[in-house]
Amino acid sequence: MNTFDLSKFEEEAQEQWTHAFESNPSNLEKCYLTVAYPYPSGAMHVGHGRTYIVPDVIARFWRMRGKQVLYPMAFHVTGAPVIGISKRIAKKDPKTIHLYRDLYKVPQNVLDEFTDPLTIVRHFASEYQRVMTSCGISIDWRRRFTTVDPTYSKFIEWQWKHLYEAGHVIKGVHPVRYCTVDDNPVGDHDLLEGDKAEVIKFTLVMFQHGDAFIPTATLRPETIYGVTNLWANPNVTYVKALVDGSSWIISREAAEKLALQDHTVEIQEEIAGRDLIDTTVNHPLCGKVPILPADFVDPDMASGLVMSVPAHAPFDYIALRDLQRAGKYTQINPVPLIKVEGYGDIPAQDAVEKSGITHQMDSRMDALTQEIYSAEFSKGTLFERYGGKPVRVARDEIAALMIEKHASKIMYEFDARPVICRCGNKVKVKILHDQWFLKYSDPAWKKQVSDHLGDMVLVPQEVRLEFDRTVDWLKDWACTRRVGLGTRFPWDTTQLIEPLSDSTIYMAYYTIAHKIREIDPRLLTSEVFDYIFLGKESPDLPEKKKLEVMRKEFLYWYPYNYRFSAKDLISNHLTFQLFHHVTIFPKDKLPLGMVVFGMGLLNGAKMSSSKGNVFLLEDAVSDFGADTVRMFLMGSAEPWQDFDWRNELVISTKKQIERLFNTVLESKDADGEPHDIDRWLISRLQSHIERTTEALTNFQTRQAIQEAYFGIETDLKWYRRRLAENSDGSRELHTLCSVWIRLLAPFIPFTGEHLWKEVAGEGLVSFAPWPVANEKLINTRIELAEELISRTVEDIESIRKLIQMTPKSIAISIAPAWKHEIFLLIAKSNNRNTVIKEIMKDDAMRKRGKEATDAAKQCTTLIHRLPPHVVEALVREPINELEVFEAAKIFLEKEFGVPVHITNAESSEHLKAATALPFKPAIIIE
Ligand SMILES: [Zn+2]
Repeated sequence: MNTFDLSKFEEEAQEQWTHAFESNPSNLEKCYLTVAYPYPSGAMHVGHGRTYIVPDVIARFWRMRGKQVLYPMAFHVTGAPVIGISKRIAKKDPKTIHLYRDLYKVPQNVLDEFTDPLTIVRHFASEYQRVMTSCGISIDWRRRFTTVDPTYSKFIEWQWKHLYEAGHVIKGVHPVRYCTVDDNPVGDHDLLEGDKAEVIKFTLVMFQHGDAFIPTATLRPETIYGVTNLWANPNVTYVKALVDGSSWIISREAAEKLALQDHTVEIQEEIAGRDLIDTTVNHPLCGKVPILPADFVDPDMASGLVMSVPAHAPFDYIALRDLQRAGKYTQINPVPLIKVEGYGDIPAQDAVEKSGITHQMDSRMDALTQEIYSAEFSKGTLFERYGGKPVRVARDEIAALMIEKHASKIMYEFDARPVICRCGNKVKVKILHDQWFLKYSDPAWKKQVSDHLGDMVLVPQEVRLEFDRTVDWLKDWACTRRVGLGTRFPWDTTQLIEPLSDSTIYMAYYTIAHKIREIDPRLLTSEVFDYIFLGKESPDLPEKKKLEVMRKEFLYWYPYNYRFSAKDLISNHLTFQLFHHVTIFPKDKLPLGMVVFGMGLLNGAKMSSSKGNVFLLEDAVSDFGADTVRMFLMGSAEPWQDFDWRNELVISTKKQIERLFNTVLESKDADGEPHDIDRWLISRLQSHIERTTEALTNFQTRQAIQEAYFGIETDLKWYRRRLAENSDGSRELHTLCSVWIRLLAPFIPFTGEHLWKEVAGEGLVSFAPWPVANEKLINTRIELAEELISRTVEDIESIRKLIQMTPKSIAISIAPAWKHEIFLLIAKSNNRNTVIKEIMKDDAMRKRGKEATDAAKQCTTLIHRLPPHVVEALVREPINELEVFEAAKIFLEKEFGVPVHITNAESSEHLKAATALPFKPAIIIE
């Protein structure tokens, strides 16, 4: 018995798919799709599922459209995270053990071996392959590799040789994000939190405090003239430390940070914060000011002490006001120093009072602070007594003066906190010497990327702005690490190339990954890769025959057509790969397009493995079936929108697939003769084919499912309603089923393969020809007739509900010819305001007087309400409404169970008949 059993369909299809998606160069046009490869350090969740299923749906679509499609996959195992994980497992860290044993369901005997980092990535790489396969993702697995394969390392060395020769790899002194536990710079991938935080350069303003300095960090050194006090936290223990030989009072955190930023730091004694309160400090540019208590001062922010400018900083203003309201420090007044248009003497006071903020913790404080800072920077000027210069000029001059004359120093700090490493440690800013960088700041390199971006297809279009912005602000990138897995840095083999820098052109490597393995890695010189990828001949190339084959593969597949990835990779990976491509490959091998995804939510909350808010893909497949998971992920949102996984909605998706299954089984063998309604069904089908094709060409998976599933299902419902009694439908249903299965096959390939056999399709549906709309089968006349009937049926139903009586008969009264004439004139007219006047110039119409103007107004309203394609069709091909209704009389009588009379409005005596309009007959129920 043929029952709906998704796991049975999965088993059947998997047997037939072995090796089916391995793809080789051919005479067909190629379509090469790639997606950012995973870092296999944990189990896949449904969010990952979407990342790999979207490209799969597109791959399956183009495959059916006759292209030679390549969709490969590899595993990114470069970097330090997995080393941290293995260390934590070795230490039996309960949180890590819980995550891997209970959430990722790693068997205990395997988990025991996770003390070796390579075992972790090997385990999860094969898990990824298994789960991806179970989801029906049509990958050419022959090309699988990992980024620590010796052959891959040779490829990376070749890539870096070219980057170096182009002058993009430089050595320098730079502040970078740094983890002191791992003793390593920290990349975006290594962060648990704070990936948006940027390193900012602060000026330390040095206040004299007895024989020591108290430094306060500021981005606005010009405001020194308005300092009324410093803030210290009375609950913090500060330290006195010798910094480069002079005595500083700072927080303990600041002492650690300064030691990472080219200062010698020696802590000498502790000083309680409360002991600093009410003492005074001195600075040549502001004179003597007191230190006041403030709980908001964070010892982990810069030096741990803050200078206060209440006239221009809303936080300082409120903090001072609060103390003064308690009767303290009432002698202190804000000291303004900048005039700025739109604000009074004391901008901070103005802004705080205008917005009605009453306390420091108000969430609007940050925005308010930003607003004043920007206003003062862009249009503020210092008072005459402070030099009278615009803020944007004075700021740098005063900073330079302080550094030269007043002992100021630079300190680097993040603009947002916290910034946490994957190991759990707080990330700090360290100045690295002899650090290697990719010089993304190079304007010439940026220009090359911008120029190429202009030629690329970006989906959705809105992301172009974000790409442009990223290219613009990218700074030099620390590209090596001391610890981790990966390829040794060629110019300093104690270092490794970091993960975001060895994963930029591997899409080219896929084209040869299955072949290059046959060659001894020791023979893989840069000349070998120069030949394969750049066609450069050189003498004594080893294994020339094999190299020629690889060269052909590369030339056939490259450049890739589309790269898919989540949108959070725009700011690094997706842009980096363009920088590397423009350096290494010629113009005709540069990437063609990118598709950027939205994020995944689980029951409305962001998915996060570390927070345990994930639903494993494998569990989803076994609970609901792979096709259900696929159709839900593709149908609930377009790829670039965020999607929200909710089990109750997933269940209804499964029911939809079951309905499809049952419908196909019921309909496929119908063998009746086709009638008008069959022609209608097939005519409609052509537009569903066309619109599904268009949607998938534009990566709109949701729109495609709306057309291919719901559109056709709705038609079938109407079709069955319109069939004569005792009819199961005609043999056209077989055609419909065959098309329907193929339109949905990219989404639900398992059910697709099963049903394809049921309708006697040839071979695998995965390779069956994609349906093509046949214009000759489009019948506008029949579609309009059905539209008219279904609208009239709806009208009758709503009238019946309104009048609440049992009807004895229904009369349908059709508008007279002159109203049709008016309707057409208005529909064809470009100016619907003047068309009525034009109509009334006609003698016959003028004789009808008010009746004609009323009809013209009603027709105008109706035309606005009808779908534009219906109006267009009516203009092109007016229908004979009387004939249409006569032909549907039996159907209407069956629907409503009473006699139905079709009349001409002009011959009807009923008053209501006069309301009949074209495409909207008068309905009289008695
Ligand atoms: Zn760390």
